[in-house]
Amino acid sequence: MNTVRDVYEYINAFAPFYTAESWDNSGLLVEAKGAEIDKVLIALDITTDVVEEANEIGANLIVSHHPVIFEPLKRIASDDVVYQLAKHDISAICAHTNLDVAQGGVNDILAHRLNLQNIQPLEPLDSNGLSLGRIGELNNTMDCAAFLDSVKKELGCSGLKYTQGCTQIKRVAVCGGAGASLVYRAAQLQADALVTADSKHNILLDAKKLGITLVDAGHYCTEQVVLQPLAEKLRKAFPSLCIVCSQREGDPVQYQ
Ligand SMILES: [Zn+2]
Repeated sequence: MNTVRDVYEYINAFAPFYTAESWDNSGLLVEAKGAEIDKVLIALDITTDVVEEANEIGANLIVSHHPVIFEPLKRIASDDVVYQLAKHDISAICAHTNLDVAQGGVNDILAHRLNLQNIQPLEPLDSNGLSLGRIGELNNTMDCAAFLDSVKKELGCSGLKYTQGCTQIKRVAVCGGAGASLVYRAAQLQADALVTADSKHNILLDAKKLGITLVDAGHYCTEQVVLQPLAEKLRKAFPSLCIVCSQREGDPVQYQ
């Protein structure tokens, strides 16, 4: 029988929790009684829908990307997710910025999903490959419209926003989630495009000025790419555990 701690230690080995940003709150954030587990649900966020799903399918652990507790909890009510996790004896491991920077983490997988070659760190954090974002090259130069189509297709976006700073795309930087401020670093490394999310007006203006096509493919779409590969890794490491990705969560953003 496997325990919550076994899964925590496994994640800690390839995406060490100490590498998380100081402002982050990654780790084993909810530890239910009864350490043994048989079913794990993987999700980007622990919402009430996801806790309900875990409870219905009998999962006793949720592994999520975003922390279920971020700001200090000052009160807790029955409709709060942490209350619901405790009520149903479900543990929560949240691998956030440690999973972003790891080899085989969010950004590495995002770079592979966009078919980049010669993938390198975008903003290295150490000499062992830990890095904010990644940069690489497409096999062939694409015009901007074709590149946007391929990003939409590969990431399953219903829509995206972008600013066109470069019309011919070959060298591409990526950062899943809120990585638009890496546009300056991407410019230093001669990127033609940056694929990220949560871009603000001033950054879009700067991207255009820097000659970079900034593609905002959405927070959900640029990060959900990690879920299936993470589930696959855990299945290989823990063959006796049933590991499933949430069927209920989806992109909260809609496009008209
Ligand atoms: Zn995120």
